[in-house]
Amino acid sequence: MSHDSPNRDADERAAAIRSLIKELRTEGIRSDSVLQALQTVPRDQFVPPEYVAAAWRNTALPIGSGQTISQPYVVALMTEALELTGDETVLDVGTGSGYQAAVLAGLCRHVVGVERIPELVTGAREKLHALGLSNVEVHEGDGSLGWPDQAPFKGILVAAAGPRVPEALLKQLADGGRLVIPVGPPSQQVLMQYRREGETIHSRQLTGVRFVPLIGAEGWADGFGED
Ligand code: SAM
Repeated sequence: MSHDSPNRDADERAAAIRSLIKELRTEGIRSDSVLQALQTVPRDQFVPPEYVAAAWRNTALPIGSGQTISQPYVVALMTEALELTGDETVLDVGTGSGYQAAVLAGLCRHVVGVERIPELVTGAREKLHALGLSNVEVHEGDGSLGWPDQAPFKGILVAAAGPRVPEALLKQLADGGRLVIPVGPPSQQVLMQYRREGETIHSRQLTGVRFVPLIGAEGWADGFGED
C-alpha cells in the first residue's frame, strides 16, 4: 500500500497556494499582511466540493444560490484598500461563503457580516465556526442599510455592486474610516474607496470590476438581474 497520495495532495495544494500568492504580488498586491491572510485562510473550505480542485486559482467560483466567491485578486485588493491596522471593527456586506470575512478576521479586531440569503448565512456561520474564528458574527439582513446596532465602523467592505454608494453606509463610517464598494450597472462597475474625515467624504476610483448586484433598499430592486 502506498502512502504517497496524501503527501502528494498536500504538496500540490502548497504549490498551488504559493503560485497564487506569487501571482497576486505580480498583479500589484503589496501588503504582506494581506498576502499572509490569503495564504493562511483555506479557500478550499469555502467552495462547494466540486470546486475544491479549482479553489487556489485566481478566479471567482460559484457558491450556490446563484452567487459567487470573489476572485482572490479582488479580495486582496479590497482588503488592502481598507488599510487595516488590527484594532478595527469591520462591516462585511455580502458575506456569501464567509471567505472574505475569514480573511478580514485575521487583520482586524472584529467582523460583522451581513448576508441576505439565509442558506448562505447558515453555511458561512458553519465554516467560520469550524475554523475557530470567534471574532466574526454573521447576520441575515439587507446590508445596503448597513448594521446600525454596531456602527460606526472603521472599515466597510461591500462585495456586491449597487447603483450608487448607499447613504446608510457613509453614515455608519467612523471618522477616518474607509468604505470599499463596487458602484455601477451590472455590466461594468468601478471599485471605489471612500474615506471619512469629519464631515467630509473623500472618494477614489481603484479599478474596473464586475460583481453580482447589491439587492436591497439602497441597492437594486429584488429580482434585478434574474430571468
Ligand atoms: N464575500 C463573499 C465571499 O467571500 O464568499 C462573496 C460575495 S458574493 C460576490 C456577493 C454576496 O452579496 C452574495 O452572497 C449576495 O447574496 C450578497 N448580497 C447581495 N445584496 C445584498 C444585501 N443587500 N445585503 C447583504 N448581502 C447581499
